Amino acid sequence: MPKVNNWHLKRQMQYPHEDTRPGRQFGAVFDINRCIGCQTCTMACRSTWTFNDGQEYMWWNNVETKPFGGFPQQWDVKITTKLGQQKWAGDKYEGKTIFETPDGELREEPLGFAPKKEEWRFPNIYEDTASGTCGSGVSLPVHENFFFYLQRICNHCTYPACLAACPRKAIYKRPEDGIVLVDQKRCRGYQECVAACPYKKTMFNTVTTRTEKCIACYPRVEEGEIPRCMAACVGSIRLSGWVSPPDEAKADNPLDYLIHIRKIALPLYPQFGTEPNVYYIPPRWVKRPFLLQMFGPGAPEAIETRTNPDKELKAVLKLFGTTKRTIERFELKADHIEGFDGDGKQVISVPLKEPFYERPFHDVANSAYRFNEP
Ligand code: SF4
Ligand code: SF4
Repeated sequence: MPKVNNWHLKRQMQYPHEDTRPGRQFGAVFDINRCIGCQTCTMACRSTWTFNDGQEYMWWNNVETKPFGGFPQQWDVKITTKLGQQKWAGDKYEGKTIFETPDGELREEPLGFAPKKEEWRFPNIYEDTASGTCGSGVSLPVHENFFFYLQRICNHCTYPACLAACPRKAIYKRPEDGIVLVDQKRCRGYQECVAACPYKKTMFNTVTTRTEKCIACYPRVEEGEIPRCMAACVGSIRLSGWVSPPDEAKADNPLDYLIHIRKIALPLYPQFGTEPNVYYIPPRWVKRPFLLQMFGPGAPEAIETRTNPDKELKAVLKLFGTTKRTIERFELKADHIEGFDGDGKQVISVPLKEPFYERPFHDVANSAYRFNEP
């Protein structure tokens, strides 16, 4: 089996299938710095896709509180512990991925684990409690006092572990948009994908006895619309669209711009080796070693650039959450930024400077009088 090229790792790696990138790849950028943890995205997804029998515990979109929160509980602590200590040399990954043996050979199955039922049962339980004991009497760990919200959907990985593990070939990656789906007719519910996905984003339906997962709202994406979780986001932290490989990056595609040109949006746990296509702008206030482990070696530079944005970067960050259409191209003007959809139609125009209105002291038209409190 030939090796595949993983640009997150800047090296070739073992994978059980050929390197067949889709014609274009669905992806997203989440700016963690803006998230208020309101879970509107979670409920938007829930009310669209997972309200049927057997889906009670499914949260295709979830928002967990780091450092210790997770859905299923401790998912990342468990898989990073299994993977063991690994090494980057600069921006090149020298460690092993979940697809590789310690000798660098292809594993028979991706490294993984099956979460216990109770670990899926309680999303967000006591996640925002800093220390002490929770209701069940379990002592909560004490940590240096930072936290942030981590928004999670399926990453529609370039090298999906779920797909690699499926003995039925029921999971496929669409050539037209790179969205990863489970063929419900082929699936037999063996749950190999549940164990293999390092992000734990395939979920078993106990009623249909088939596995289900985030479908990137593909009926909307096919129409040039953004997924429900992106459209509903209250904090305007999400921007979805198309991600190119680095050598094909387009400077006027907002996702390529943030990921490849400005390098402020980074993959989550790139060391797993799946080349995930959801990217994160890391939180500025968090300890660097924690961020390095979570987002790879680009984290310090990404934070530096995000903290001191120039006019163009500031303008692109203003496109988040402004339209339900997929922005495929942007144009920066003197005092505003314009976004265009796949048909070349302008779908949004955002002023670079927020308009400022001073409300008069006496609102004569409404006979309302306001007084400033001392
Ligand atoms: Fe598959 Fe998990 Fe990647 Fe989604 S995040 S494509 S479920 S390996
Ligand atoms: Fe965060 Fe947006 Fe979800 Fe609210 S809707 S939790 S701001 S990602």
